[in-house]
Amino acid sequence: MVVRAGREFLAIPGPTTMPDEVLRAMHRPALDIYSDTMVQMTASLLRDLGTLFATKGQTYIYIANGHGAWEATLSNVLSRGDKILVLESGRFAVGWGNAARAMGVDVEGLKGDWRRAIRPAEVEARLRADTTHEIKAVLAVQVDTASGAYNDIEAIGRAIKAAGHPALFMVDAVASLGCMPFEMDAWGIDVAMSGSQKGLMAPPGLGFVAANDRARAVHKTAGLRTPYWDWTGREGPEHYNKYSGTAPVHLLFAQRQAIDMLFDEKLENVFRRHQLLAEAVRRAVAVWSEGQMLGFNIEEPTERSNTVTTVAMKDPAPLLAYCKDMCGVILGVGIGDLSGKAFRIAHMGHVNAPMILGTLGVIEMGLQALGIPHGKGGTEAAINYLGESVAA
Ligand SMILES: *Cc1c(COP(=O)(O)O)cnc(C)c1O
Repeated sequence: MVVRAGREFLAIPGPTTMPDEVLRAMHRPALDIYSDTMVQMTASLLRDLGTLFATKGQTYIYIANGHGAWEATLSNVLSRGDKILVLESGRFAVGWGNAARAMGVDVEGLKGDWRRAIRPAEVEARLRADTTHEIKAVLAVQVDTASGAYNDIEAIGRAIKAAGHPALFMVDAVASLGCMPFEMDAWGIDVAMSGSQKGLMAPPGLGFVAANDRARAVHKTAGLRTPYWDWTGREGPEHYNKYSGTAPVHLLFAQRQAIDMLFDEKLENVFRRHQLLAEAVRRAVAVWSEGQMLGFNIEEPTERSNTVTTVAMKDPAPLLAYCKDMCGVILGVGIGDLSGKAFRIAHMGHVNAPMILGTLGVIEMGLQALGIPHGKGGTEAAINYLGESVAA
């Protein structure tokens, strides 16, 4: 007997659930890519990306996933042989750094740990030691989607400033933009990037980049520039220039609708919703952990992200299979160093209380059905927290 008929729920950290309005927005003919409507839609998206990143800098839209947007950032500001510092906190900044290495950049990793966030003091110390300013850029992710770490980007920005180091500060906000505060200009970020398919609730396929004047000045002499990614080309006067070719019309319809929904809800409310639902997940995991079979991957509570919770567990495969095959809830697998040793509960984007409480209820049901020792009442703890926090 299974209880999975009904809508399957994708609780993985991207692609995330798309609102029906976003799906419907794509169900229409393409626009003439030279029409005013098209030109205005592009202008509105470039402007609103500036609001999402909180920057007065330039924004760019690529037909690419996050990996493509990574390459866009690197190729526009670096030259072969440049040295960069990658701040490790799991898998994603390291992946960005690996792309840079493959492009001929000299990559140094600031050793981190899969169980904690980046330590700003260590960043400051490393940069102070670089007295000749060999390091051209510092790369970090706001949320590492593999470890579940939340990095305090504002504090890292302050650390770079305190070291008096001129390196560009480049931040990956793929798993956080539109879910939690991001303040590119205020936090001293020079280049930021994200993608359409996580907090921004649209299909995979759009990569977003923002660059301030300092980055655009460095760009002028960057040796890794190539035509498709090149910012200067994209700043050309024709609409055609903005995409280095045909606009991804339907993805833009979707992204336009999704951003309208975020702005209608108001970003501060969107951030608060994510914080509440993430805390509900954490309350449940904390209770289940009492059984000693599973626990938070990130040890320090303030370093746990509001978009994904990584739960360390020996052999999570049977639990994931139960949730999927019996109940129609698809959880994220552990990846990288946590492959086969963790699962992930995504709570980013178009999520509400029933989606999260339903997911938690199904996980608890699976723990019970499989006889996995766990503290009882995790879902109830989540309900109690939300009941107290979301006032009538
Ligand atoms: C998902 C993700 C990426 C990669 O995005 P793709 O669209 O899969 O290429 C990069 N960084 C972070 C933090 C992510 O979560």
